[in-house]
Parts: sequence; structure tokens; C-alpha cells
Amino acid sequence: EGDISKINPEYIKSFQFENTLMPSTWIVIRIDGCHFHRFSEVHEFEKPNDEPALNLMNSSAVAVMEEFNDIVFSYGVSDEYSFVLKKDSSFYERRASEIVSAIVSFFSSVYVMKWKVYFPQKELKYQPYFDGRAVCYPSCHILQDYLAWRQVDCHINNQYNTCFWMLVKSGKSKSEAQNHLKGTRAKEKNELLTQCFAIDYNMLPAIFRQGSSVFWDKEEKIVINENEEVVGKSRKNLVVEHCNIIGNSFWKAHPTILG
Ligand code: ATP
Ligand code: ATP
Ligand code: MG
Ligand code: MG
Ligand code: MG
Ligand code: MG
Repeated sequence: EGDISKINPEYIKSFQFENTLMPSTWIVIRIDGCHFHRFSEVHEFEKPNDEPALNLMNSSAVAVMEEFNDIVFSYGVSDEYSFVLKKDSSFYERRASEIVSAIVSFFSSVYVMKWKVYFPQKELKYQPYFDGRAVCYPSCHILQDYLAWRQVDCHINNQYNTCFWMLVKSGKSKSEAQNHLKGTRAKEKNELLTQCFAIDYNMLPAIFRQGSSVFWDKEEKIVINENEEVVGKSRKNLVVEHCNIIGNSFWKAHPTILG
């Protein structure tokens, strides 16, 4: 007791708990803004969808993917982003707490550093922060179901929020708008938008309806050398797209993403 030189490091380390993620599974790190309901109000985000705020999220996600090479795909909506690590990743020997904390802190730092780019006229009034979690998906089929679930959530929330904010902007109180929408189905919400507000839901910007997918896209460039021979050159570029990722067609069109 009291003699530090006698402390066995192995004994101290034995209190750390195992948090290694299952090998050969797709690791998804989902981060989500903490109390962004308030953050979006304090910073006067346009409701229901503030486009600069979404672009700042996307830009931060792009920076994360440029920094951490094992991330092969990411999907973002509202104040959340899901980052998919390749199946055989050995990033931090697959220890969940290190992976989650590195991605969350990097994302938060970029979000703050880039704030001025997307909101040149708005002061960042206090520090935003994000939380994160890791989940393993054992097959690419289940991973695709996970991503489809996030996009369905985007669609349902966006449809509700579009109706809610149209009602509020037309003079209803928030609780009146909430009651008005209670129990309505998708079809009824679409009718409300077309009949009362002349809005065709499907004409709203895709970034609002579909969220944002970020991935490395192979760009085939045909290059001809000095002997006039075609030497195919392909480069990988990070792209942000607002496309349908529900079902198989996106994954069939981009077979290299999940390999
Ligand atoms: P928690 O800390 O539990 O995540 P939260 O307040 O962040 O709580 P969420 O369910 O994550 O709640 O929802 C995020 C909220 O942030 C949305 O309800 C919306 O009000 C707001 N928000 C996020 N992004 C935008 C945006 N681009 N435009 C307008 N509002 C946004
Ligand atoms: P890793 O990513 O594995 O943590 P690292 O480069 O951060 O790698 P650490 O073992 O965490 O390595 O050591 C932190 C390093 O940061 C130190 O070796 C030192 O060079 C530098 N450093 C941190 N704080 C200070 C400081 N206050 N003054 C000078 N150097 C510092
Ligand atoms: Mg949360
Ligand atoms: Mg949140
Ligand atoms: Mg959220
Ligand atoms: Mg260090």
C-alpha cells in the first residue's frame, strides 16, 4: 500500500471491460446531435428543413470519410449520420468505445470549424455536441435493411414535419397542428399538402425527402496516351447523393461500395 512501484499494470488493466465488436460484420456508427430541437431553435433553423444545416452535416460527414478510410458508406438525415465501416475493418482492433469516440469527436470538431462556411451571417451561440453508438450487422442484406429503415424514418418524419410546419405557418398553434395530424395516414397527409397548400410532396427537394448518402464513386476517365492508345484511368471520388437506397436497385448499381 502506498508504493506505486508495486502496482501491477495488468491488474489495473483487468478492470477495463471487453468492448471488441464481432469480427467480419459491418460496423455502423450512428451519431446524433444532442438536444438539436433546442439547438435548431436557438440558431433559427428554417423549419421543417434548413438546407445550410443539412449541408454542414454532409460536409462534416465527407470530412469524416476522408479521415477514416475504413468507412465505405454513410447516410445522413436531420441531426444524425450513420457511418458504415467495411466488414473486415481492424480500426482500433474493432474496440467500440475508441471507434465511436474518434468518429464523434472528429465530426463535432469539423461541424464547429465549418459553421462559418455554411452560416456566414449567424454566430454559433454555444457548442453543439453529438452522441454515438456502434451496432454490428452480420450480413450486407441486414445492413441494407438498416439503411432502408433510416431512410423510411426520414420520409415519415419529413412528411409529418412538412404538414406540421405548413399548418403552423398558416396560423395554427403547435398543439392545434399536432391535433390536426393525429392519426392521419400518409395518403391523408399528401392530400392535406396538395389541397390546402398546393404542395406536391414529390416535388420537394430530394435532400429533404431522401436524406444524403455519401460514398466513393468510381469515375472512369478515358485517357489516351501519346501513342494514341486508350489507357483507362479510374479515380475514386467522394459523392453526396440524395437517392433512393430502399430496395436493391441502388446497391445493384453500385456493387463496389459493399464489395
Ligand atoms: P436528442 O438529444 O434526444 O437527440 P433532439 O432534440 O436532438 O434530442 P432528435 O430526435 O434528434 O431530437 O431530432 C432532431 C431535431 O433537430 C429535429 O426535431 C429538428 O427539430 C431539429 N433539426 C435537425 N436538423 C434540422 C434541420 N436541418 N432543419 C431544421 N431542424 C432541424
Ligand atoms: P495516439 O493517437 O495513439 O494517442 P498520440 O500522438 O496522441 O497518438 P500519445 O501517446 O497520446 O500519442 O501522446 C500524446 C503526445 O502529444 C505526446 O507524446 C506529446 O508529444 C504531445 N503532447 C500532448 N500534450 C502536450 C503538451 N501539453 N505539450 C507538449 N506536447 C504535448
Ligand atoms: Mg439521441
Ligand atoms: Mg438529436
Ligand atoms: Mg436525431
Ligand atoms: Mg493521443
